Amino acid sequence: MIEPNTGGRPLTDYLYAKACRLKIPLNGTFELSPVCNFACRMCYVRKTEKEVQCSPRPILTLDDWLKIAREAREAGMLDLLLTGGEPLLWPDFWELYDQLIDMGFLISINTNGSLIDDEAIRHFLQKPPKRINITLYGASDETYRRLCGTPGVFDRVDRAIRGLLDAGLTVKLNCSLTPENACDIDWIVDYAKARSTVLSVSTYMFPPIRRDPDRIGENERFTAEESTRYLMRYLQRSRGEALYRGYLQSIRDGYAEPQGLDADCIDPEDGHIRCRAGSASFWITWDGWLLPCGMMTQPKVDIKKHSFPDAWRQLTEMSAAVRLSGVCDKCPDRDICHPCAAIAYAETGTFTGIPTYRCRAVQQMCRIASEYNQVSKT
Ligand code: SF4
Ligand code: SF4
Repeated sequence: MIEPNTGGRPLTDYLYAKACRLKIPLNGTFELSPVCNFACRMCYVRKTEKEVQCSPRPILTLDDWLKIAREAREAGMLDLLLTGGEPLLWPDFWELYDQLIDMGFLISINTNGSLIDDEAIRHFLQKPPKRINITLYGASDETYRRLCGTPGVFDRVDRAIRGLLDAGLTVKLNCSLTPENACDIDWIVDYAKARSTVLSVSTYMFPPIRRDPDRIGENERFTAEESTRYLMRYLQRSRGEALYRGYLQSIRDGYAEPQGLDADCIDPEDGHIRCRAGSASFWITWDGWLLPCGMMTQPKVDIKKHSFPDAWRQLTEMSAAVRLSGVCDKCPDRDICHPCAAIAYAETGTFTGIPTYRCRAVQQMCRIASEYNQVSKT
């Protein structure tokens, strides 16, 4: 047998590079339901039970998901993210989870953590997922009430994180930072550090155009300049001064490692975004649209009308035709900004628009990097 030459890089990089080249859907996301017990102000997907019941497109059933999973496995899917809304609220979650694990997928779960009790932890221990991603919104009930509209949940989330870690399960913490929970950022960084848990903080909130097409370029979020200031504060505290200084130097040199993205989105060789959406990864919404990425509304294929292989073939062709603005393509700050199709569309309503929110955030990054340099010289 000929061994693949991965050049010392993880085998997953080799697999994803090959999947992109051959258009194999190695990575999938099943968005089981938009229903959530939280009501976060910046959420891009949430709906109430009543809104789902009134939707002209019915929610996918257990049998629908199992059929899609079988077809996607045949087509090459290995990594599978289960998300929502809050996926644990979806009535058939555990039945689906058990069957998907038995099918051999490497499963990750996005959850707000509030419904993970001792019984759920025992269930995960019997059939362990690859990773449980918990979004930690703050340090107190008051922050959760302010941002998520949900009183009295902080202790439940904290207990869930500690319980999962004590059980030896793999947990990653995510944080969506907005004006409502910005006051807790230092505490969140310290909380993750104390537990040696991976933390990813995003200060950029996508306009929620999937929930409301009129919200292009808008969300309950920081100004572009504030989003950069909080990003820098998070990086400085989480990495320490020496690494932070190195990061600012890289900005001055014209390249900054992308932030707030999954490590899988970044090419380990050249550090650029390696967007696999529509070439090796896909997202299926609760009402049956196949999308390249969950932040996009276009291009899309109706999975209710097509088999998975047919829908995937159509999606790869449509995704390959997506182009960004020529201005972004030639922008000197491109390697600091890392523009992507989902951001361009959500900020401007077209793939070829210039997301000026991003431009302002990048200008602020350059200003902070330059001012830091001036101060350290004096
Ligand atoms: S927890 Fe997530 S899915 Fe639920 S409302 Fe908040 S952002 Fe939306
Ligand atoms: S969004 Fe603005 S800063 Fe980013 S690449 Fe495009 S023009 Fe440049």
